[in-house]
Amino acid sequence: MSGKQFSFTSILGWSASRYEKFQSCRRSYYYAYYGKFDPDFPIAKINALKALSSKALAIGSLAHDCIEAIFKRLQQSDAAVDKNRLKAYIHSKTMEFHASKVFFEVYYGQIDSVSTDEISTYVNESVDHLLNSERFEWIRSQSAENKKRWIIEPQGYGETRICGLKAYCKVDFLLPNEEGVFILDWKTGKQDWEKQQKQLIGYALFASGNFNFPIEQIHPIVVYLKNGYEEKEVALLPESLDAFARRVQEETYEMYTYVADIEKNIPKDKAHFPMQDDVAACKYCEYKALCGR
Ligand code: SF4
Repeated sequence: MSGKQFSFTSILGWSASRYEKFQSCRRSYYYAYYGKFDPDFPIAKINALKALSSKALAIGSLAHDCIEAIFKRLQQSDAAVDKNRLKAYIHSKTMEFHASKVFFEVYYGQIDSVSTDEISTYVNESVDHLLNSERFEWIRSQSAENKKRWIIEPQGYGETRICGLKAYCKVDFLLPNEEGVFILDWKTGKQDWEKQQKQLIGYALFASGNFNFPIEQIHPIVVYLKNGYEEKEVALLPESLDAFARRVQEETYEMYTYVADIEKNIPKDKAHFPMQDDVAACKYCEYKALCGR
């Protein structure tokens, strides 16, 4: 299933992570989304900082890749997962990741090096929590016909339209069957129900807008994998859907006030994107080398 496609436009598209960046610090938002317009630093330098990975990000990214591989394989075969092969796969993916990335903690001198064993242990644990869950058995037991309809980490950024505005809501895993349409979102970090609920409402609107699934049949579920297995389903109440759509509109228009040309998404001058006053909030920012913080 490929869903609705949109022709390319330059206009900015809302996403939960974009607005989160915008809110956290206007200057970091500028570096993250408008680095090529920066008059002070070469784009290569900005992009190198943007590409830094923290240990937590590495664990999340590797666990997602691994779960994607497991479900893609399940579409082809019902055979039980070979835990030893899986462990070797996670080890080799962790080594690849380690070789291709610079870690935030190392770049900023917090630690001398990142232990690949530590990362792969956390990835193994998270994936194991999923494999030992009833939910995994339920997914595994789906019919071959249903498996063909799974959408696993779809290509692209999950572009959709909310109230006619461009938005990005990318699902991890979408499973339609006779009971409904299940959207499962894997979390390897801490629980933040308020934030994650909103994210999942966006995914439900993506599934309904791009694939025409009736909204009342959609079950968005957040799956926590860090300390065991836990899942929480988001209720799609009419008032929460309305509130989400309003929020996307308000936040998009707020971000529009920082661009000089809305259609081309050209930012105003860098001076419109001030640095954060609270120096303590810079502690985990990837761009602190540019701000001297
Ligand atoms: S270091 Fe601080 S001021 Fe600079 S971009 Fe990051 S959060 Fe903003």
